[in-house]
Amino acid sequence: MSAYARDIKDSLTFFVFVATTALCLSFTFSVFVYRLGVLEDPQRFLVANLVVAACVAIPTATIASQHEFQLKRYQRQLESLASTDPLTGLLNRRFFRISAEDEMKRQRRMGGMAALILFDLDQFKRVNDRYGHQAGDALLKRIAEIAYSELRGPFDKLGRWGGEEFVVLLSSVNRDQAWLVCDRLRERLEHTEIDYNGEKISVTASFGYEMLTPDAAFDRVVESADKALYVSKSTGRNRITYAGPRLAATA
Ligand code: GH3
Ligand code: MG
Ligand code: MG
Repeated sequence: MSAYARDIKDSLTFFVFVATTALCLSFTFSVFVYRLGVLEDPQRFLVANLVVAACVAIPTATIASQHEFQLKRYQRQLESLASTDPLTGLLNRRFFRISAEDEMKRQRRMGGMAALILFDLDQFKRVNDRYGHQAGDALLKRIAEIAYSELRGPFDKLGRWGGEEFVVLLSSVNRDQAWLVCDRLRERLEHTEIDYNGEKISVTASFGYEMLTPDAAFDRVVESADKALYVSKSTGRNRITYAGPRLAATA
């Protein structure tokens, strides 16, 4: 169920709760009026009771549930602002970490492995120097969109690790499958050009990855992936390196 549908369901539940409470109150009040003998005719009493109930319960419940719905929306907007990077809309480092730790907990329960990938744009400073910082920003946004489109929706996680460095968590993959995803992404980025004020800009990226096992320490896995990324940089860029036991496999 989407977050929006859940908010609607919650505010409808709230509507029913407030309406029932208001109905009970108006019924109690009507019994009191009946006891006083103001309305002795049962039919008139029933009509009066229904009118009072409708006048009290429906507006009260409507206002209260609308208020509840708005509050939920603001809460969600705040959560989204706190968890995403403003330029790219990807998870920020802090929330990526939380997602990755959730994935590790899931693995402990269900089994399976994940891969943690770091990729960093090559010679990105030159893009800024040559085309300007805004062009660099536009390229970063486009790269975030491409990377997102290459991953599997809610299962894989994508974050901005900082500057021009991105982080990916591929869930339920083995080492070879992770390599294929890196290679697909590497190739896709290599062949992407953005048009910025009539200038065609392109960039490549270097990758490093490590497998995330249920008993691994998250920071150690990031450190390994970072070392692997460094190997990709120092051996020519636009490459992938698997951290592995001895950083053996490079492409
Ligand atoms: P390398 O291949 O070794 O990674 O070279 P590089 O030039 O990409 O790396 P370096 O660390 O020297 O420079 C990173 C550049 O990324 C410098 C910085 O201005 C730029 N950068 C970082 N964050 C942003 C951003 O949000 N927007 C823009 N436009 N540029 C950014
Ligand atoms: Mg770079
Ligand atoms: Mg960097």
